[in-house]
Amino acid sequence: MHRDIYIFMGPPGAGKGTLSASCIREFGWRQLSTGDLCREQIAAQTEIGKQIDFIIKSGKLISDSLIAAMVEEWLALHKGESSPLILDGFPRTVVQARMFHQALQAKGLLSRVRFVLLEVPDDVVIRRLVQRALCSNKGCQAIYSLEEGSGSLEGKVCQKCGDPLVRRADDQEETIRARLAVYHEHAHDMLRFFEENGYECIKIKGDGSVDAVFSLFKKKIGI
Ligand code: ADP
Repeated sequence: MHRDIYIFMGPPGAGKGTLSASCIREFGWRQLSTGDLCREQIAAQTEIGKQIDFIIKSGKLISDSLIAAMVEEWLALHKGESSPLILDGFPRTVVQARMFHQALQAKGLLSRVRFVLLEVPDDVVIRRLVQRALCSNKGCQAIYSLEEGSGSLEGKVCQKCGDPLVRRADDQEETIRARLAVYHEHAHDMLRFFEENGYECIKIKGDGSVDAVFSLFKKKIGI
């Protein structure tokens, strides 16, 4: 884990995945998305996948211990890497933040971590998520916005690779509202935890265009 780490936080639909994709493309950074790890388990129908499928569809959080185990396994698999790492979706609760903080402290790595908060109003993220579609090709995962009122995916394909577009199982309005409520339940305490423990906190207004948000991010981190 001897690398710079960027913790991306923000409500569902804030654009953490999109900003991560820009950093991967332009800087060759790495991304660890706990949401993607969960969805991989579900797609592979593992024991864990079967347990968490329902929880994710209801918009609730997976247990801290299960998430910690998945993160540890991922970090062990990638421990030889040195490019900066984006944590997308982890830590998500104060319990997870404390566990991670202790692990970093033990390794003397606290100074290499920056915390990035993408701020986007609830009405904007709800609009984005009800319109969100993704490429079904796991190696592509391009993100699209369906035009308002044209919710059907019938015949729609990815412009990059030609595979069909799909919706995420948890991008239904009721589930989106549940995910947002869970986010707000934890966000304030998480922010306080990071501030109190001396992390550098970078706040970015995330309701602009993809390019505008990426430019803001580069400016704030001095690239
Ligand atoms: P979003 O941020 O858009 O809600 P993610 O792809 O990050 O989506 O996560 C999808 C779901 O995966 C979450 O709603 C939650 O159920 C589960 N999940 C992801 N990361 C965590 C985490 N760190 N702790 C608990 N549950 C998580």
